[in-house]
Amino acid sequence: MSTVLNTKNLSPRLLSFFTSAIMSVINALLSLLLRPQWYIACIVFIVTFIITYWLYYYTLQRFIYRKIKLIYKLIYQTKATKREEFFYNNVLPQKSIEEVREDVEEWAIQKRNEIEVLRANEQFRKEFLMNLAHELRTPVFTVQGYVDTLLGGAIDDPNVNRKFLTNATKGIDRLTRLLDDLDEISKLESGKVPIIQEPFVIQDLVKDVYEELSLSAKNKNIQLNIKSGTERPLVVNADKPKIKQVLVNLIENAIKYGHENGNITAGFYEVDGNHIYTEISDDGPGINEEHLPRIFERFYRADRSRSREIGGTGLGLAIVKHIIEAHGQTVTVRSTPNVGSSFGFTLDKGKE
Ligand code: ADP
Repeated sequence: MSTVLNTKNLSPRLLSFFTSAIMSVINALLSLLLRPQWYIACIVFIVTFIITYWLYYYTLQRFIYRKIKLIYKLIYQTKATKREEFFYNNVLPQKSIEEVREDVEEWAIQKRNEIEVLRANEQFRKEFLMNLAHELRTPVFTVQGYVDTLLGGAIDDPNVNRKFLTNATKGIDRLTRLLDDLDEISKLESGKVPIIQEPFVIQDLVKDVYEELSLSAKNKNIQLNIKSGTERPLVVNADKPKIKQVLVNLIENAIKYGHENGNITAGFYEVDGNHIYTEISDDGPGINEEHLPRIFERFYRADRSRSREIGGTGLGLAIVKHIIEAHGQTVTVRSTPNVGSSFGFTLDKGKE
């Protein structure tokens, strides 16, 4: 009985049934009071029941339930064809008003979340455009400044003309780097560049990158090391050129921001039997704790003036994060000011 009377699942048919039953009982009792004859009471009961049942049912169905269903349909944007409508109405159990309410609530939450995501994206887009304009302005102004000065007469001054041209070229180099990084990040974001996994030894790739960057390390007399005890070759399964890009960005940063005569160490660890964790550590200036949560955002810099002076685009770590996340892995950072920084990422372990 409790299930039949469960108000949660009352359909228009059941609702009409119960209401008309109550009305019929009241009418039958009244007729019994007026004329204590059972057969009259029975007739009153049956007639009242039939009339009130159809009246209630028709009103509910026509004016309330159908309208609710229409709203429900609009919300769900379900333009059912005649055949589907027949199927919904006659084959599938009818949705109770309570179920419709739950569905609509769910729909409202879903829409609210969608709007929040859209708002966040809009904000993100605005900030990105502002940052981009700012980033482009600096090198363009530099180039413009030197070219204007040269055209204004400095071109004939042998003491400065070469120097000014070299400085203008630096601005152009910076623009090129920025455009290259932007190109890379937009390709990664569009998801058009597939991740092609292959097995390779991660230590060998780090050694290749060390080799490529040895000149800039030598200029600052920075030592590039493999952490002792982690030399045993470990095979990872990943997109080799992209992981090389990750390592270049991390090791380049460690050299760029590292102190003269410093040390950079790469460590390799097997975790949970399925992953390899690679960590690039330096003994440079470190990063303040307040910057750490945002360090992987595009154009975010812990030390603005220093990054610009060094020629950073502010996109290196954002690219690292994109590549690692596209592998379904995670990237982490640990850092202590005046002690150093460690950037690490996991990769799937490959078959040896
Ligand atoms: P940038 O082109 O400015 O180097 P990144 O995205 O590569 O951009 O790095 C973001 C910021 O993180 C840098 O501006 C710098 O402040 C900080 N950073 C990155 N790596 C290091 C590091 N090894 N030591 C200290 N600071 C670092």
